[in-house]
Amino acid sequence: MPMDDSRPRRPDLRSVCVYCGSSETTRPEYLDLAARFGRALAERRLRLVYGGGAVGLMGRCARAAHEAGGDVLGIMPRFLERREITYEAVPHRMVDTMHERKHIMFEESDAFVVLPGGIGTLEEAVETLSWRRLDLHRKPVVFLSEDDFWAPFFALMQHTVEAKLTPTGFAGALCYVRSIEACFAALGAPAHA
Ligand code: AMP
Repeated sequence: MPMDDSRPRRPDLRSVCVYCGSSETTRPEYLDLAARFGRALAERRLRLVYGGGAVGLMGRCARAAHEAGGDVLGIMPRFLERREITYEAVPHRMVDTMHERKHIMFEESDAFVVLPGGIGTLEEAVETLSWRRLDLHRKPVVFLSEDDFWAPFFALMQHTVEAKLTPTGFAGALCYVRSIEACFAALGAPAHA
């Protein structure tokens, strides 16, 4: 996806949900990407909506957004409070179930960005994409990594398209970018703050 600074900012884009990994031991460049993305959201006055944790990419993203003066909303299931360590410095809502968490993250967000992550990140991203496939929403879902992290997922989706199990038209809903600037262009936000 080419960088496009000329795209008008979507006036309805106020809150961006970030799905990303909770691992502390992943590659440092993924943790760094999460921090830079959090700061970039704050610089564009976009609110970060996320899972509420202080660990892994989630924690890096939220801390950077908060420290750059951005708004952050975390949604944390009570049973995960210890494992994912609620980031108390930002507004957060405590819920009872994963379903509640995902529902609030969805309702509070105008777009979704998927950073590198594991099974939890995949689950959240795929469910949001599947709701789009069912025409339950039209919110953009953008996968962002600066390497080929998400390439196998996109190859799998293409495989389902080629088998005519996913309609070709749905491929338009699948967006993979390799820079933060391209991500904001895809979201209709300014590439530069
Ligand atoms: P992971 O990518 O596995 O590190 O998980 C990223 C985040 O997704 C963590 O905050 C997990 O708690 C969360 N997660 C895991 N499974 C689910 C699920 N079924 N629904 C919503 N969030 C989940």
